[in-house]
Amino acid sequence: MDMETTDVVIAGAGPTGLMLAYELRTAGIRVTLLDRLPGRTGESRAGGIHARTMEVLDQRGLLDRIHERGNPLPAGHFGGLRMDFSDLATRRPYALTVLQSVLEAELESSVTELGVDVAWSSPVVAVEQDTDGVEVTVEQPHGTRRIRAAYLVGCDGGRSTVRKLVGIGFDGTDATMTGMLADVELADPPTDRIFAQRNGPGDFSAIQFQPGWYRLLVQRHDLVLDRNTELTFAAFRDHFTEVAGTDFGMHSPRWVSHFGDAARQADRYREGRVFLAGDAAHIHFPAGGQGLNLGVQDAVNLGWKLAAALRADAADALLESYAAERYPVATRVLHNTRAQTALMRPGVHTDALRDTMRELLEVDQVRHHLGLMVTALDIRYPTESEHPLAGRRVPDADLSTDEGDTTVHALLRHARPVLLVLGDTDAPSVRGWTDRLDVRHAETETEHWTIPDLGDIPQPRAVLIRPDGYVAWATNDEVTTDLTDLLTRWFGPAATAVRDRAIA
Ligand SMILES: Cc1cc2nc3c(=O)[nH]c(=O)nc-3n(C[C@H](O)[C@H](O)[C@H](O)COP(=O)(O)OP(=O)(O)OC[C@H]3O[C@@H](n4cnc5c(N)ncnc54)[C@H](O)[C@@H]3O)c2cc1C
Repeated sequence: MDMETTDVVIAGAGPTGLMLAYELRTAGIRVTLLDRLPGRTGESRAGGIHARTMEVLDQRGLLDRIHERGNPLPAGHFGGLRMDFSDLATRRPYALTVLQSVLEAELESSVTELGVDVAWSSPVVAVEQDTDGVEVTVEQPHGTRRIRAAYLVGCDGGRSTVRKLVGIGFDGTDATMTGMLADVELADPPTDRIFAQRNGPGDFSAIQFQPGWYRLLVQRHDLVLDRNTELTFAAFRDHFTEVAGTDFGMHSPRWVSHFGDAARQADRYREGRVFLAGDAAHIHFPAGGQGLNLGVQDAVNLGWKLAAALRADAADALLESYAAERYPVATRVLHNTRAQTALMRPGVHTDALRDTMRELLEVDQVRHHLGLMVTALDIRYPTESEHPLAGRRVPDADLSTDEGDTTVHALLRHARPVLLVLGDTDAPSVRGWTDRLDVRHAETETEHWTIPDLGDIPQPRAVLIRPDGYVAWATNDEVTTDLTDLLTRWFGPAATAVRDRAIA
């Protein structure tokens, strides 16, 4: 059996694996993208994306096609309690309802345009690694395939084979309740969108996703269904009717499924040359719709770092920063989804807690705090800098440049770092990194940038933006700093240093 070679093997072509493949290919990395399934299932799954994911997709020019196929919703929820998003400080202060199947189809076609096809019916079944690389065994219908790569990333979902094969634990809390859903047509639909209406042992929702069909959801707190139990349409109808008192004349199911509130996180995101991302690294109840968002953002954090390790000889510390940055983000999501399921439990005590929370959500500061948490607009990665932008996502300010009007996020289309120099400021020296870093000069009409969780801050004079849209360095003073250490840490040694080492 011949051994194939590539730079990165990605196990799993769900949203996380697709986004990672896009990031790596854009950076010129060879990618092999494998999925155990024979093809796309067409299951609708997740119902939408939040503001930070829209920003991340927009940074790469991927949002427009997805946005056209979705519907903006001005609000989200926390534990079923409505939260208005319309005053959050982002270009798109809303949630976008778009089916996961649509998002996957669009991402897959973008990845295909970059020359990567998903290898279907290709489950990863064995992994071995040494100091230089990783060997992946794939069991295909016509035989076994062996691939050697520099890195393997397990984007293979909550039951991740990769995670198990490399011995990473997945501790957390077991399910305490069951959510059930069916995508159906309704003979007798409700006149309004029903969301999380509480009744008896749980709550139910009836949401028109697209003309002609609805997603019905019922959550029961008196029942824990085994993940491996198949839920029939008849059983779904019985559960729904018992909680809702009607079945709305449901018929013609497209998809019936169930899920629990088990919340688990991988005990580490890396074992040598093998990384985990997306549901393979964390699972939780889909409260507030955060899982897919988390996975896409894991991929965008990891992609440029793997590319820098492979192409620019970046130090291993850069790869370590993936877990240092993304692990606490997922821990917080697990925490907030546990809080949300607690808020959904039946009973008068929870009713009282919900009333109290509803009152609290009328306080703008509380609503902003939870809204920014669910939309991931308030992430701040660990940083030693005291500049308020450091570690935060760069705001998407309007810019005028010599090449015309643009926005900060549009500068990130090529997944390269950007040194943005504003106004009449001298650019710091980045000689040695111009092969992988873009320097852009621009003017703006504003004197302030708005940070979602801070408010207005004076616009910086220069800002160094990582390919994932987070700020590595910023200054409001004349630039006198020598950026050599910072640039080396984030983007690898200067080009001359790499060349000198190769010659030596
Ligand atoms: C009812 C429901 C509603 C949801 N709503 C939302 C929402 O509104 N917003 C949100 O953000 N999230 C939501 N989620 C969560 C979201 O669906 C997941 O977080 C998301 O699918 C995770 O993407 P992923 O790519 O990490 O994993 P997956 O989508 O699970 O993809 C993993 C892929 O890996 C493949 N695979 C598995 N094993 C192997 C192997 N050995 N070798 C190769 N390939 C393999 C699988 O076939 C699959 O294609 C919802 C989930 C559910 C169940």
